[in-house]
Amino acid sequence: MTMAAALAGPDDRFDAARARLDFPCLHQTVHGRPLVYLDSATSAQKPQAVIDAVAGVLCHDYANIHRGVHTLSERATDLHEGAREKVRAFINAAERREVVFTRGGTEGINLVAQSYVRPRARPGDEVLITTMEHHANIVPWQLLGEQIGLKLVVAPINDDGELLLDALPGLISERTRLVSVPWVSNALGTINPVHDIVALAHARGVPVLIDACQAVQHIPVDVRELDCDFLVFSGHKIYGPSGIGVLYGKAELLEAMPPYQGGGDMILSVSFEGTEFNELPYKFEAGTPAIEAAVGLGAALDYLVGLGIDRVAAHEAELLADATRTLQQIPGLRIVGTARAKSSVLSFVMDELHPHDIGTLLDLDGVAVRTGHHCAMPVMTRLGVTATARASIGLYNTQGDIEALATSLRRITAMF
Ligand code: PMP
Repeated sequence: MTMAAALAGPDDRFDAARARLDFPCLHQTVHGRPLVYLDSATSAQKPQAVIDAVAGVLCHDYANIHRGVHTLSERATDLHEGAREKVRAFINAAERREVVFTRGGTEGINLVAQSYVRPRARPGDEVLITTMEHHANIVPWQLLGEQIGLKLVVAPINDDGELLLDALPGLISERTRLVSVPWVSNALGTINPVHDIVALAHARGVPVLIDACQAVQHIPVDVRELDCDFLVFSGHKIYGPSGIGVLYGKAELLEAMPPYQGGGDMILSVSFEGTEFNELPYKFEAGTPAIEAAVGLGAALDYLVGLGIDRVAAHEAELLADATRTLQQIPGLRIVGTARAKSSVLSFVMDELHPHDIGTLLDLDGVAVRTGHHCAMPVMTRLGVTATARASIGLYNTQGDIEALATSLRRITAMF
């Protein structure tokens, strides 16, 4: 369904108040006030369907996978591989072997750094990122800087937090080994024009990694249509368990990459003379994986697909627009990150108040937001702040949550 269709009639509108009932953790009080959870960009709450799927494995189907001929092991393996198929379908990858389970987005980027870029890069070669990166898309490249002399090239943004797309061609050279960019900025909510970025990089023969940690839960993803070479995301931000994530890679690239972690399950045969690696994707999945977490991720994707990601996205966009209008009217409050295309994140600062104090005072009213640099210190520096308070929207948030945030902020303003 298109976003326009999702907004077409009241009957078809996404009912967040009803979906909210699926999330047990939301129904509690904090400091005697009903919890208002506006921190989903940090980690999202889990629907009962995910909790049941994880509990189901642990209660009935748990054993180690790919190892035993016994029934429980076969059942656990089937569930784990079933989850991989759900991920494949969710991102429309061509083949299941292009879906590598990781611990999260961070591990996916480190895998690409160590297994794709490291073997290909010579000292002075470059990886192009943007000013608005999460540290997970900065530090792995800096480690390669120390290990093999890789250079980091950083694409600029404007004062609204928008990527300066025109600057990109001039920053891609014959030394660029990879372009690695976030689809959505976690600190600002900016949606980057990833289709244009992929086209630009491919025109120069450079592969692209998309950090989709803040995108997959808000924007339908089709890796074949996008034509990205790698894409990473984390389970816990898309209503699944923590400790599980996904690296998508084009099969021909993954095939040519050596593993960067060795151990059980990633081998076909081992002797003291050498090792023959397993086929994709197991080559990159050394050791016992997060079995129940993978199954929980599969359940989370089923849940989101069942709700309709376009309908959820339309609801979240409406809430973000409302929240932006409302917060802009609070005296002394300034929104940080005012890109034209934004998703689900509202970062702000207030005169005379440190963001940590805003967060603490909001918590006293039961309102949960994140405060700090959001693991994106360079973009904070670029926009002239050291930290922000950040409200972020998930599918279960309602107009009432935005009102509660605004009421609490007005009370805080009046106090100071
Ligand atoms: N990239 C972005 C844009 C993120 O928001 C995050 C999580 N805040 C990460 C990467 C890292 O994800 P994780 O900590 O789940 O590995």
